[in-house]
Amino acid sequence: MAVAEVQQVAIAFNDLKAQQRLIREKIDLAISKVLDHGRYVLGPEIDVLEAHLADFCDAKHALSCSNGTDALIMAMLALGIRSGDAVFVPSFTFVSTAEVVVLCNAIPIFVDVLPDTYNIDPNSLKEGIKQAKQQNLNPVGVIAVDIFGQPADYNALREVTIENDLWLIADAAQSFGARYQQKKVGTLADITTTSFFPAKPLGCYGDGGAVFTDNADLVDVMSSIRVHGQGLDKYDNVRIGINGRLDSIQAAVLIEKLKIFPQELIDRQKTASFYTAELAQMLGVPRLLAGVTSSWAQYTLKLPDYVDRDSFMLGLRELGVPTAVYYPIPLHMQSAYLQYPRVTDNLKVCEALADCVVSLPMSGYVTASQAEYIVDAVKQVISKQ
Ligand SMILES: *Cc1c(COP(=O)(O)O)cnc(C)c1O
Repeated sequence: MAVAEVQQVAIAFNDLKAQQRLIREKIDLAISKVLDHGRYVLGPEIDVLEAHLADFCDAKHALSCSNGTDALIMAMLALGIRSGDAVFVPSFTFVSTAEVVVLCNAIPIFVDVLPDTYNIDPNSLKEGIKQAKQQNLNPVGVIAVDIFGQPADYNALREVTIENDLWLIADAAQSFGARYQQKKVGTLADITTTSFFPAKPLGCYGDGGAVFTDNADLVDVMSSIRVHGQGLDKYDNVRIGINGRLDSIQAAVLIEKLKIFPQELIDRQKTASFYTAELAQMLGVPRLLAGVTSSWAQYTLKLPDYVDRDSFMLGLRELGVPTAVYYPIPLHMQSAYLQYPRVTDNLKVCEALADCVVSLPMSGYVTASQAEYIVDAVKQVISKQ
């Protein structure tokens, strides 16, 4: 298709409306069932959803919760984080990953990422552990992030965390549905957390999240933490917790959305493969590790030096193609986080990525003709640089 005119039908960055059109009647019915039974909090949909989520990703236990940020807090509290402990986090991520560490009165230590996968660099982590010990910090764990939908390199990370007696949390807010070798996201770390924020690969119609683990003790503790640290009954509190429950209505929505999720993952992969085949010659395309799949929360390009990102994005906008930058400032450079340690003064890869990344439209509903229009538009804008 030639890029002569702007597309008649607007291209969405993440086409949630197309998804809703497909399942609207089922969603309406599922929500009206909640209105009928009236158990808005911890209603029957919660158990059903949790069973389906665990089954979907082969985890022994899944617990739904209020959002992906609270999921991280529940995970760290269950792992026994204490005031002054240090936790390693990549700097090229959404703010929650480091924020939760500070909220637990612990110290985030920022680690660099890899230039090809954008995920935490195991060698930078090793260097960080060495330094933390020299500085008499007390490192207790690592939060790996599966950025843009691709799992981090868990075999390499496991080796480092086992050797150094650290726990490992997978922040899988962007990667639910992905695989790492034979295993699914949800089983790759001591605890895996995810988010059902509407724009994530599996999203609800509000805030939501979940935690996954194979450890029965950890799931018991997290289910207590989820309801204010409750013990045997409501007014028996045995630990400090949070209000971390998911609403029954959101669970009802997720039960329906989970049914179409496998097909959406296939369609996201189709779009990503097409983008990569068409654009790899001229732009930095995302690379997957061998034996690893992505749930393609984002399809993120690296622009070469000669391309100005603002004019690239403006040129695409004029052709009706929305783009976005995830993330324009690494966390270690943000004012709220300047005071926290980092492995080196400059986390070179994080900083370089922040300057050159840009994400293209992605969802399970990018049509073949839209994908063609998008790559033609990208080629046209690049040729004018
Ligand atoms: C979205 C996101 C979160 C937070 O999830 P919420 O549900 O918005 O609280 C945490 N980590 C990463 C990497 C995310 O992308």
